[in-house]
Amino acid sequence: MASARENDPVIVVGSGIAGGLLALAAAETGPVVMITKEALGDGSTRRAQGGIAAAIDGHDSVEAHIADTLAAGAGLCDHEAVTRICREGPDQVTALLARGVHFDRRDGRLRLAREGAHSAARVVHAGGDATGAHIVGALSTALRRDPRIELAEGERALEVIVRDGRVVGLRSEDADGRERTRAARAVALAAGGMGQLYTRTTNPLGATADGPALAARAGAALADLELVQFHPTALALGDGPLALVSEAVRGEGAILRDAAGHRFMPDEHPMAELGPRDVVARAIARHAAELGADVTLDLRHLDADAMRRRFPTVAALCAEHGLDLARDPIPVTPAAHYAIGGALTDMAGRTTLPGLFAVGECAATGAHGANRLASNGLLEAAVLAAGAAEALDEGLDDWPDGPVAHAAPVPAVAGGAPEAREAIQAAMWRGVGVERDAQGLAQAARDLAQINAGTDHPTDNLLLIARLAAAAAKMRTESRGAHFRRDHPKADPRQTRRIAWVGDEPLILPHAITRRPRVLAMEAA
Ligand SMILES: Cc1cc2nc3c(=O)[nH]c(=O)nc-3n(C[C@H](O)[C@H](O)[C@H](O)COP(=O)(O)OP(=O)(O)OC[C@H]3O[C@@H](n4cnc5c(N)ncnc54)[C@H](O)[C@@H]3O)c2cc1C
Repeated sequence: MASARENDPVIVVGSGIAGGLLALAAAETGPVVMITKEALGDGSTRRAQGGIAAAIDGHDSVEAHIADTLAAGAGLCDHEAVTRICREGPDQVTALLARGVHFDRRDGRLRLAREGAHSAARVVHAGGDATGAHIVGALSTALRRDPRIELAEGERALEVIVRDGRVVGLRSEDADGRERTRAARAVALAAGGMGQLYTRTTNPLGATADGPALAARAGAALADLELVQFHPTALALGDGPLALVSEAVRGEGAILRDAAGHRFMPDEHPMAELGPRDVVARAIARHAAELGADVTLDLRHLDADAMRRRFPTVAALCAEHGLDLARDPIPVTPAAHYAIGGALTDMAGRTTLPGLFAVGECAATGAHGANRLASNGLLEAAVLAAGAAEALDEGLDDWPDGPVAHAAPVPAVAGGAPEAREAIQAAMWRGVGVERDAQGLAQAARDLAQINAGTDHPTDNLLLIARLAAAAAKMRTESRGAHFRRDHPKADPRQTRRIAWVGDEPLILPHAITRRPRVLAMEAA
């Protein structure tokens, strides 16, 4: 393939909030191809309930949003990235309104919910608890209407093609198994999360770490892979991706009780049920293990009709299992929910490889530090999509710090038959889960090393990222944010820094890396 030309399209991989917003914005300045491996909009975005955090209320401030984000991030936040997402929050909400997302209102004003570890009510939502479905609905309509965007649904990205140190195209496979190679001016990975690394997850089946795996194989740096956020309250009923019982339910006053009926959270954290997600997740896991039965969420003291109206999605999910959200104790469990790590980027989504962008959950900007504040995920995705569109518009010639040698592409690992997926998930859940220790991590590394078969791509991607995540978790011999080590239960100030990967070589990064990821990565090496 010849090297990329100015009039080649930008290829966006994925059609959630990040891919959707980026494709629509990039189409203003040139041709766009959107490749998405399932139907348009099938990803985590569609499942988002709570909403988007933005300091809109007169009693709130951007400074308070920044302070809450930094506190949740436990010392690993990139301050510039945090400032950027919090400052841009109100504008991004306005932009989504302009794209046709009807956020909920009361008396003409946007309704704001309060969620865990937020010091103010600042989460805008749509359809009560159906925020993501409303966002995806509006974006998908706009994407289908835009003649400048070529949509390739049911097509899976397999490989980012690199020539002379920059991206020139993408190899993919359509629903009939036919391979296709397209030239590209730039490739933007918007491929979502990696919840399928774990047995219990709220993520859809397609959340198979394709974004970071494609980036790593092309030679771009990854970061923060040990930092996986577990949602404390997935519905502990049914198979497959677990339904989420949104944090907003606790925000409205729901109480967590152990099997003996004891309300335990006030003993665990001053903010009780609204404490940081990692604290709540660990407390639930511990109390469930101690009594050998699920913890339940109790809404019986709240206005039943108001609760069913406010949380129609959760109420319907409970009803599918014969439970009344407002009247029955609801069994809940922690589940892998959000990947803080991914391809290392700046706030324009630029990875360390010229021409390769990563936006949304598959990017690691440092905005979440060691623990994401609730509803900052959709916000970060929207901010990154806008930043990437701007960078594409400005042109790709002055990639930060210019082209320098990057890692040799990581070869596909010898592993990945579909049946290997369960073995990967079990090894990760046991050893690299809510609580970790040296012994469990060593066992996980041994288990993962033995998984070996075929070249099935999604599973192959899971295996590559699982091995790096287990290695990163072993390196971080402290507890911080979402990463909890039973054998090192305290934070170690000397480890207030991020762990990045170039190929399978770890790099220790200072945390202020937003503007110049490439050079700092090379210096750190
Ligand atoms: C149940 C649930 C509830 C949540 N609630 C909230 C919330 O209230 N607020 C909040 O801020 N965050 C929430 N989150 C997190 C947030 O929804 C996600 O981080 C965000 O939606 C990710 O958006 P995205 O565009 O990066 O990825 P996604 O929406 O996951 O989209 C990824 C896209 O990439 C495609 N794809 C993947 N691999 C390939 C490939 N190889 N080739 C082609 N296409 C590919 C997928 O098919 C999909 O279209 C929630 C997450 C879950 C799972």
